[in-house]
Amino acid sequence: MNLILFGPPGAGKGTQAKRLEDRHGLIQLSTGDMLRAAVAAGTALGLKAKAVMEAGQLVPDDVMIAMIAERIALPDCRGGFVLDGFPRTLAQAAALDTMLDSKRLRLDRVIEMRVDDAALVRRVAGRFSCAQCGAVYHDDFKPTRQAGVCDSCGSTSFTRRKDDNAETVKARLVAYHGQTAPLLPYYRDKGILVTVDGTADIDAVSAAIEDLVAPRPGPR
Ligand code: AMP
Repeated sequence: MNLILFGPPGAGKGTQAKRLEDRHGLIQLSTGDMLRAAVAAGTALGLKAKAVMEAGQLVPDDVMIAMIAERIALPDCRGGFVLDGFPRTLAQAAALDTMLDSKRLRLDRVIEMRVDDAALVRRVAGRFSCAQCGAVYHDDFKPTRQAGVCDSCGSTSFTRRKDDNAETVKARLVAYHGQTAPLLPYYRDKGILVTVDGTADIDAVSAAIEDLVAPRPGPR
């Protein structure tokens, strides 16, 4: 099954993509994670992307399309993938269609996680993650069970994304509404768009997504 998790920054796409990876073996394709890895490694691409990301703007389409084309071509994606953070523009969506057509693959669903802007700024500004395993936490909504220790792997080192501050989130939301939200009608027209309430708690959102991915048998 090939999915897109769609939604504004802070909607919970990364958290849900990781769960889909654990439960269904779907490969999480996060262009944000790929870019952050390039920034951390100091590659030419990372150097170029860093300032754009810190300003909350979008990295140019040609760069992003080449990045995802290379990753989607790897054999592990044949078993199914979850796109998280791609596509973010109509040009990226069109390029994705061409890419998938050429590999005789198709998108099964685009799952929109809907959250209003005010909630997003609060969510994103308190977000941090484990430096070791990437588990995502929040100062108020999802603290670690034991202060300073990762619930998942026991590590004591954590990181905060540089673009997870109130000011940059507002710029990221402008980019979302201006450049990314116009993809919703694009996928609605294809008949593959479904919307879940992204404001529900994490397990409830997971359950709603599970129903879409692996529908429970109903009464006959
Ligand atoms: P994310 O982790 O998905 O929130 O992405 C973090 C940042 O990386 C974004 O604010 C953009 O600057 C950049 N980025 C990630 N994915 C894309 C994309 N598909 N197109 C353009 N820029 C992207």
